[in-house]
Amino acid sequence: MNPSDPKLKSFVPVTRDSHFPIQNLPYGVFTTPANFTPRVGVAIGELVLDLSVLEQAGLLEPVPGERVFNRPTLNAFMERGPEVWRRARETISELLRAENARLRDDAALRGRAFTSQAAAKMLLPISIPGYTDFYSSKEHATNVGSMFRDPAHALLPNWLYVPIAYNGRASSVVVSGTHVLRPNGQKKKPDAAQPVFGPSERLDFELETAFVVGVGNALGEPVSVDRASSHVFGMVLLNDWSARDLQQWEYIPLGPFNSKTFATSISPWVVTMDALEPFRVEGPAQHPPPLPYLATTGPQAYDIHLEAALAIPGKRATTIARTNFRHLYWSIAQQLAHHTASGCNTRVGDLMASGTISGPTPDSCGSLLEITKNGRTPLAIGGVERSFLEDDDELILTGWAQAKDYRVGFGEVRGKIVAARSHA
Ligand code: MN
Repeated sequence: MNPSDPKLKSFVPVTRDSHFPIQNLPYGVFTTPANFTPRVGVAIGELVLDLSVLEQAGLLEPVPGERVFNRPTLNAFMERGPEVWRRARETISELLRAENARLRDDAALRGRAFTSQAAAKMLLPISIPGYTDFYSSKEHATNVGSMFRDPAHALLPNWLYVPIAYNGRASSVVVSGTHVLRPNGQKKKPDAAQPVFGPSERLDFELETAFVVGVGNALGEPVSVDRASSHVFGMVLLNDWSARDLQQWEYIPLGPFNSKTFATSISPWVVTMDALEPFRVEGPAQHPPPLPYLATTGPQAYDIHLEAALAIPGKRATTIARTNFRHLYWSIAQQLAHHTASGCNTRVGDLMASGTISGPTPDSCGSLLEITKNGRTPLAIGGVERSFLEDDDELILTGWAQAKDYRVGFGEVRGKIVAARSHA
């Protein structure tokens, strides 16, 4: 049976609003208090299934004769390609099914293989050689262009032809829960004669997703738009923290640098493209038609509901944005084809972010820059105003694809802001 079949049930209890039913099976890397060795697991209900234990027991062997799950990252597994991914997913799904006694009735094995997610410490699941951030939401690009340039010409003429992106910083990608240090940097008030160096006063989040390259391509050998899906392993939630005051001063002519390099947070569970396949939908119509190397047929978007919530000290977390991945103008296949069209190589673990995903309505903006109109219309949360993020504020992104009776979810990516280092 197809591992995405809606009829499948696991012997592990899964509630209707859980992000991790048997149809999902996202991969992560974890340790436990009893075993500090990082290894690969999948999330099921409120548990983690330790795949290194299944490998050792001889129940799971997607790569014949070799172990790939007793590793500190997913890279060794991902680089084996789509056939290995599918074989692993099918075997794990079979072992978790309600009617399969093999794992269900082996109490000793179950005791070694399952850990509660509450007890597991999740680590950065991927070794990330390169991080690219696209700018593929037409609504976001229009909102930002209207604020910083001219509302009548908000979208630059290249935007409808080029999936715009910049090369980000891979070394500072961190897993959910890692504190985010407020960056110091250069900022210049519009009426000031000179810039000053100091803590960012306009610290923002960006609600994004990212796809993870499983199989890279060689230098000089572009990935065609039709072949892109065989290179993409899965997706995570991504918060592209942004210091707007630093960004505004530094970004011309080469784009963001210190305003983005201080941290990028991702969710710990990588949801596979196979698990997302049932949620494929048509993306926005593309006019003018993309150039031939970016031309695709069939639905290219995914229906993934996305939310951002802000928790300020002493208050409950408040949802401040609701949007959907399906609004993205440029698809994953187009992004990867464009990235490699020049002959640029990609490597296993490369992370390629969507760009801020804003929707068509005011409550679907994926950054405080847009929500508060660059600070002019602050949010009011429990009587407290917020234009940008303050120290000790926590930002939480979540997202899921909704089926009739279950959700294929991403869990969360959280990050709390801590005070800047003294620069005196
Ligand atoms: Mn971004």
